[in-house]
Amino acid sequence: MEYTNFHDFGISDKVIISLSEMGFEEPTPIQKAAIPQALNGKDIIGQAQTGTGKTAAFGIPLLEQRPEVKSRFPYALILTPTRELAVQVCAELVKMSARAGVACLPIYGGQSIELQIRNLKRGVDIIVGTPGRLLDHIQRKTLVLKDVRTIVLDEADEMLNMGFIEDIKKILGEIPEEHQTMLFSATMPREILAIAKNYMKKPVHVSVDAGQMIVAKIKQVFYEVREDDKLKALTRLIDVEGPALTLVFCHTKKEVDDVSGKLQQMGYPAGALHGDFTQSHRDEMMRKFKSGDIDILVATDVAARGLDVPDVSHVINFSIPQDPEGYIHRIGRTGRAGKPGMAITLVTPRQYRQLRLIESSVKTHIMKEKLPTGAEVKKAREDELASSIEELIGEGKHSSLYHLADSLLEKHSPRDLAAAAMYLMLGETAIEEIEEIQTGYYEGGKKGVVRLFMTVGRKDKIKVEDVVRSIAAEANIPARKIGNIALYDTFSFVEVPSDMADRVIGAVNDSIIKGRKVKIGHARKRQQG
Ligand code: ADP
Ligand code: MG
Repeated sequence: MEYTNFHDFGISDKVIISLSEMGFEEPTPIQKAAIPQALNGKDIIGQAQTGTGKTAAFGIPLLEQRPEVKSRFPYALILTPTRELAVQVCAELVKMSARAGVACLPIYGGQSIELQIRNLKRGVDIIVGTPGRLLDHIQRKTLVLKDVRTIVLDEADEMLNMGFIEDIKKILGEIPEEHQTMLFSATMPREILAIAKNYMKKPVHVSVDAGQMIVAKIKQVFYEVREDDKLKALTRLIDVEGPALTLVFCHTKKEVDDVSGKLQQMGYPAGALHGDFTQSHRDEMMRKFKSGDIDILVATDVAARGLDVPDVSHVINFSIPQDPEGYIHRIGRTGRAGKPGMAITLVTPRQYRQLRLIESSVKTHIMKEKLPTGAEVKKAREDELASSIEELIGEGKHSSLYHLADSLLEKHSPRDLAAAAMYLMLGETAIEEIEEIQTGYYEGGKKGVVRLFMTVGRKDKIKVEDVVRSIAAEANIPARKIGNIALYDTFSFVEVPSDMADRVIGAVNDSIIKGRKVKIGHARKRQQG
């Protein structure tokens, strides 16, 4: 039988209406493959990449399985690796069951256990939870599993990576003997197959073609950059691409803090997401990101696993993923809900082989692109200004200033006037020299030159000449010995000959430039950027 629409599954009208209200017109391939089998009560092993619609693939059958006689205790249990995913899966189920009236509850660590106990007491049909907290409730006997007929393991490979395997086995041992199991995973490592073998009854395998989904929708490119230039490359790409929402992936929590902090310092609306933040902070970040209050979310793999934010237009791998699965999971955060997506990976020359490995395992081609030049960045900024001016004229709000325009026009040409107004808007960036980013590999900076880091920047109304003048005067060295100076909002870099570095640091540290006390020191590798 060919399942071309949701009616063909023979599911209830209430659910079909909710699905159409969600904009689901046609089942996705994994849904076509899994739903009929699941409705028949079969155990399922589903393998499909992120963004293929796995939630509804198990969610729709679950809603259909609601028992006639209502119980206070859940009839289905869904295990997810993270709290974010528990919340997201639960939200999707709530939407799908808007008319069918099934009570779903997310249960995860980090939320008040008393609150969860109260909610559980009210009676729940489907629970979506993280393994640790679920076990906690099972042990406290605040979660009763005697009526569970179906258990779903969502993102099973990630639960394995996070060390939940023993917890999962314990939970599987607590539910009634007679039950259906559905296991979904983007990859099928040996340990997952072992669970399937030991805990599932003649499971039916369903899968959709690897590679296919992602490659079709997501444009994948990489840029070769030196480690030290990554941050510069990142901001330059953001400037030129003008993304809607960007998810930036880093390898470690520390790197997340670093990159998000630097972006904020440079005036980009960025937020950070990783496991060290409190739940309420993480919720707040997600809310801000979804609503566009922040356009850039810097995250670790774990924290951003499975997140579904339809407007994510760009995924940027600030650090290259550890393995091909990681790559799939990351880039699957864009190109959601049929929208186009772009995946960008920053690759240092040493990581070239890792990139090739990813390409061959994922069976995709990642194209090499050239970083935008300084001139292109400038043009992008100007274009943006031009289009916001056009937009403003379209809205007509500017007419309140006609009187001022008229009086200035008596003295100046329209050309001078417009250019001056635009100059005001661009500020310093209108004349700023944007230095080119080197590609190709070299260890340090220029030979015989070191970079120093200073704690003053543009916001302190410091200009390049001020830096040169102060250093030359304080350290008593010729101004021409002072090399590249890069000013950021709150800090800056200056290059000086290596043999003069200590003298400069000694003389300039704690001195006053334009009324501001400065700290100066060797730029750490991470800062060079
Ligand atoms: P996965 O778990 O495989 O990563 P999700 O279940 O999160 O994928 O679904 C990815 C996105 O596609 C979600 O925004 C979801 O609402 C949407 N989606 C799922 N099924 C359909 C469908 N049949 N038609 C349209 N959109 C769908
Ligand atoms: Mg999912």
